[in-house]
Amino acid sequence: MEHIKPGHTHPIVCLDAGHSGDYNRSPAVEEYYESDMNWTLHLLLKAALERYGIEVTTTRKTQDTVMDVYERGAASRGCDLFLSLHSNAVGSETNENVDYVVVYVPQDGSGDEIGQILADGISLVMGTRQVGRIAAREGSSGDYYGVIRGAAAVGTVGLILEHSFHTNTRSTHWLLGLNS
Ligand SMILES: [Zn+2]
Repeated sequence: MEHIKPGHTHPIVCLDAGHSGDYNRSPAVEEYYESDMNWTLHLLLKAALERYGIEVTTTRKTQDTVMDVYERGAASRGCDLFLSLHSNAVGSETNENVDYVVVYVPQDGSGDEIGQILADGISLVMGTRQVGRIAAREGSSGDYYGVIRGAAAVGTVGLILEHSFHTNTRSTHWLLGLNS
């Protein structure tokens, strides 16, 4: 990783499983809840990153722990990168046409390069219909997203990884497959 902080002998990544409890049920596949997928995925990703010698911390100890978005980002103090894991939705109905990965990056450009690399990699692995992309959203006081703002406040590049859309049947089935 290019942006390891001085004094770190290996990268340290903070993973955040987005939401908690039973949150964001898919209209396309009934048994899918975004919150459950995020939790499963962050445990798989933690194990995978550790196999590469990357140190991993996580924001929450249990799936039902409620935590403010800003606090999640701020929990990455001392880490080199903060990743909040999610799946996206377009409206509240099933939509088979929209199927892409978007990575939300800080407005200052600090996450553009790693964000696009991750968007491309996730797209390839998931086999999404449209290409992966990065986006930044401006709020009234800096970055719109609280997790990105919280991470920035403690000096960490924070990204939100949207693993395509749980309004898309194909991608929702793919994400459910993480459980098996
Ligand atoms: Zn989400």
